[in-house]
Formats: sequence, structure tokens, C-alpha cells
Amino acid sequence: MRFLSRNIGLGIKLNLLVLVVLVLLLVSVVLLLTSNTQNLTEEIGGGRIAEESVIMERRLAEIERELSLEIRFLAANPRLFDAVANQDQIAARTAVTLATTTLQIDDIDLIDANGDRLAEVRPNEDTAAEDALFALALLGIDKIDLIVEEGTEGPEVSIAAVVPIIDSSGAIIGALQMSRRVDDAFLEALDFQRTAVGLQLLYDNQVLARSGSAQKGIDFEAAPFQQAQNGQTVVVDNLVEDNEGIPYSIAYTPLLPNAENSPAVIMILVRLEEIASFQDSTLFTTILIFATLTVIAIIIIYVATYRVAIRPLHNLEAVAQNMAGGQYDQRAPEGSQDEIGQLARTFNKMVDAIHERETSLQEARDRAERSDQVKSAFLASMSHELRTPLNAVINFTKFVAKGDLGPVNERQEETLNEVISSGRHLLNLINDVLDMSKIESGSLRLFVDDNVDLNALLESVVSTSKGLLADKSVELRTEIDPDLPHIRGDRQRILQILLNVISNACKFTDEGYVKIQAAQSDGEIIIHVEDTGPGIAPEDQAAVFEPFKQTSSGLRKGGGTGLGMPISRNLAEAHGGRLWVDSEVGKGSNFCIALPIRAKHLTPTLTTQGAKV
Ligand code: ADP
Repeated sequence: MRFLSRNIGLGIKLNLLVLVVLVLLLVSVVLLLTSNTQNLTEEIGGGRIAEESVIMERRLAEIERELSLEIRFLAANPRLFDAVANQDQIAARTAVTLATTTLQIDDIDLIDANGDRLAEVRPNEDTAAEDALFALALLGIDKIDLIVEEGTEGPEVSIAAVVPIIDSSGAIIGALQMSRRVDDAFLEALDFQRTAVGLQLLYDNQVLARSGSAQKGIDFEAAPFQQAQNGQTVVVDNLVEDNEGIPYSIAYTPLLPNAENSPAVIMILVRLEEIASFQDSTLFTTILIFATLTVIAIIIIYVATYRVAIRPLHNLEAVAQNMAGGQYDQRAPEGSQDEIGQLARTFNKMVDAIHERETSLQEARDRAERSDQVKSAFLASMSHELRTPLNAVINFTKFVAKGDLGPVNERQEETLNEVISSGRHLLNLINDVLDMSKIESGSLRLFVDDNVDLNALLESVVSTSKGLLADKSVELRTEIDPDLPHIRGDRQRILQILLNVISNACKFTDEGYVKIQAAQSDGEIIIHVEDTGPGIAPEDQAAVFEPFKQTSSGLRKGGGTGLGMPISRNLAEAHGGRLWVDSEVGKGSNFCIALPIRAKHLTPTLTTQGAKV
């Protein structure tokens, strides 16, 4: 269910699910209904067409019988017999005309034994077909057959009956022929003008006549047409639809049901419109009901989901957001007993707990900040207060040691120099403590210069190192790019970083070398201070940068405070740079300092011009 993405609300997801289920249901119901109605239509259509074809067969047989009865009746008429016997054309015509007024006949022809016309209803017609029948009658045969004449608008099919007229001695003295034209009116009468039933006359692969209710545009099929020509009534199994989609069931029946073959065939079409419209309206009603149900279901689900889940979750979310903004005074409504209510209760408990913890943390932080400030203030003032007398002690001791205040012997001078060295050490310690307290209280200020010449700084540091290594057999190596760009930063503080790192390297290395490298790389100056000292174990490397922490080798060397590296790292970071160490115990250490050339984010400081940056 990937389409139910996380971003969609719960209510919409549920609605979509319901919609999908209902659409699937709708599709299956529509398919089921369509196939059921189709079967029903076929069944009903099959029954109707079977009935209709029996009715048509019977009607056609009846017409044949009527024709044969009527022709015998007329042939037995004494007036007509006399007219034929006397070859009296006038009497013959009168008798024939009289017959047409009483009988449902389209054509009557009367001939004498020579084949000459004594009377005819439709003169000037194409007589070839009639003559063929008369020839049989003059041989004594009576017959009912189809005759096809070429009319002005194509072939015209008629059902014709012929009988010989025989005198008392048994001699054939003439013949009588009567025919009924199978045209639109004939078919109209045959299907009783019912609108649901249509008839078409098929002959020679064309439709010659159709009743008014026969749908145009439904083609006949060759196979059942041929079967019907051979005297068999054929009901087509499947339904045929017209161009409006209305289904028809179809049958073919021979025009002459009693003949062995009938070149003309009646095609029967039963229009199943009521069933089709029933099918359509059922489908429409089903879809409408389902669509309405879908909409109602979605509304109900949405309202229910909104009330039960979405609204409480929104409330919860609002409270959570307020809480994130530091407001702890609101609580989520705990109304319901369900999972959401449970969630709200748990959430409220959590808010209480967080609030309580937040309050106690705040108090602890306030206390810590206060004591930190007191400590920093104390340290700052103490350092300041200590530095002034200490400087005085160092300077006055220098005067005394130099003999400015009277002669001093060698032992006294040595002792006084010890005092000076201890004083300096103490002064450094105080300076470090002062720096650390400034860093911790956030009051460290950088005096930024846009043109700090690192080459000059490194040169002075290298010369200091030489002094520090003077008594040791340690080689000092340098690989310093002589054209390092001037960088932006606090000259004194950068010097402090370099001195701290390099003096440590000199302090901890007793043999081998100390190597100072400096080069430019990617907008930074990278300075490596590598030594072959004791190295720092991996687990101690983090402690190197923590205040007042010293490694065991650091402690052995003595004299340190454990503040140099944390101060240096803080100073490097205050310049937007970094300070880190790579080291292996027994092999040595490599302290790396990276300083940006154009530092953008220096901690709030005073520039050399005194402006804040
Ligand atoms: P200290 O003033 O004690 O040297 P630092 O902060 O400068 O304090 O250094 C902290 C500790 O890091 C030192 O005590 C020492 O153990 C270790 N250390 C620093 N530099 C080196 C080095 N080059 N070789 C080995 N250990 C070092």
C-alpha cells in the first residue's frame, strides 16, 4: 500500500481504503449483474423467438391452405367453368373480377387449353414465371409455388397456386392461377403489426421486403438463410445487437413451409428492448446505490475517525508543540477510554515528569552558573591580585641577584635565581588559570589582526625551541613554507598555541628529533609538530585536551598543570580552526594545528582598531 504515503492524514487513508474496497465491490457487482442479465436476456430471447417462429410457420401454412382452398373454390365456380368451356372472355373476366373483390388475392390469370389468356387481373406483367406453372396445370397438376417476377424495383416474390380446369369427360379445358404478392403489406399483416416482432423477406441474398417494425441495418447470416431455403426453420443461438445496442433474437423460416425447398425465406427478428432497458436501469440503479453508499460510508468514517482519532491527535500534537516551545502548563484532553485516551494520559504523565525534571535541571543549572561565575570572578580577581605582587617579587629578586642592592655571593645568586624561576613558573600557572577561567565563563576576547605573519611567529618559536633543546641530544628539524600567507587572528594567542605545543614536544622528547612543518592547504595553514617522545596511549589522547589532566608520562616529567593543551585547543577553535593529536606509545606524537587563513567566525572580540567583529 505504497500510495498510502505517510504524509496523508489518517482519515484520508481510511477513506481511500473504503473507496478502494467499495469500487472493487461495485466492479464485481456490475460484472455479475451484466453477465446474469445477459444470460437472462438470451434465455428469454430464445423462448420468444422459438414461439414466434412456430407462429410464423403456422401462419404461412395457413396462407398456403387458404390459397389452395380459394383457388379450388373459384375453379369450381359454374360461371367461370362455362366461360372457359365457351372460351367466353367477357364472362371469364367478369367472374375473375368478381373473385378479386371477395378474395385476398393480388393476381388471377385464366387460360384455355391452348394456353391463351382468357382473363387476367394484372395485364402486361412478366408472364414467364406464370407460364411455367400453367404448363404444369395443363398437364393436370395442381401446385403451390413461389413465382418471382422482375418488377420495376427488382424481383417481386409471390405465392402462387395453379389448378387445371377439367370438364365432366375429364378433359383439361383450361387452367386457373392465383397469387399473393409477398410485399411489405403482406409481412405487416403476417406479424400482426406488433412492434417487438419484425419480418424481412430474403431472396437471392437480398432483402426484398420488410415489415414496418423490422429494424434496418441488421444483416442476415448466410448459413441459417441457406438452411431455411432447404425447408428448415432455424433459430439463431446468440443475440445480435443493432447500432443502438438493443439486442435481437433471430430465426429464419422458409416462405413455403410445406415445400421441399423455398428460395425465399422469412427472417424473424424479436426486439428485446424491455430486457435491455431493464438491464440498463438495473445497472444504473446499482451504480447509483453504490455510489451513494460509498459517499455516505466515507462521510461516516471521516466524521467518526475525526472525532475518535484525528481531533484528539491534533490536540495532542498542539500540546506537544507548546511543550517543545517550553510551555508546560497545558495538558492533552484525556476524554476517551480507548488507546488514544490512554496515549493522552501517558503523554500528560510524561509532560509532568519532563516539567519536573526541567525545573530541577533549571535550578541546578542556575546554581552551577552562579557558582561558576563566582569561581571565575574569584579566579580572575585572585589571578590579577596575585600577578601584581608576584611580578614585584620576581623583579625585586632580579635586582638583588644582579647585585644592584649590594654585593651577593655565588650561593646567594643561585638561590635568588631559583626564586626567580619558581616565580616565573607560578606566573605562568596563574596566567593559564586566568585564561581557562575566561574560556569557561565565555569572556575570552581575541584581539584580531588581519595580517598575522605566521612565518615570523614560527621563526621566534623555532629559536625558543633551540634554547629548550640545547642540553639534549635532540635534533630540531623544520619544513616551513617560507611564503605562508598572512592570516586573520590574534597574534599573541596564536603564538601561545604554537609555544604550548612546541614546548611540550621539546619537554617530552629526550632523543631523536622534533620536527616543525607548516604549509598551506585548502584555505588553511596546517602546522605539524612531530616528536620522538614517549607518545600518548589511545585511551589517554582525549584526556590531553581536558583541563588539569595529565598522562602518566606528563606527571613523570612534572612541572605541568594540564592546562596548556585545553587552552590551545580552545584558542584554535576560537579562530575557527582545530587542534588534534596522532600518537603511538613509544614512537612519538604528532600534534596538528589547522588555522583558517581568512577566519569568518571568530568569537566576539575586539579588533586591533578596537571595533567588535
Ligand atoms: P602540561 O602543562 O602538563 O604539559 P598540557 O595541557 O600542555 O599540560 O599537556 C597535557 C598532557 O598531555 C601532558 O601532561 C602530557 O601528559 C601530554 N602531552 C602533551 N604533549 C605531549 C607530547 N608531545 N608527548 C607526550 N605527551 C604529551
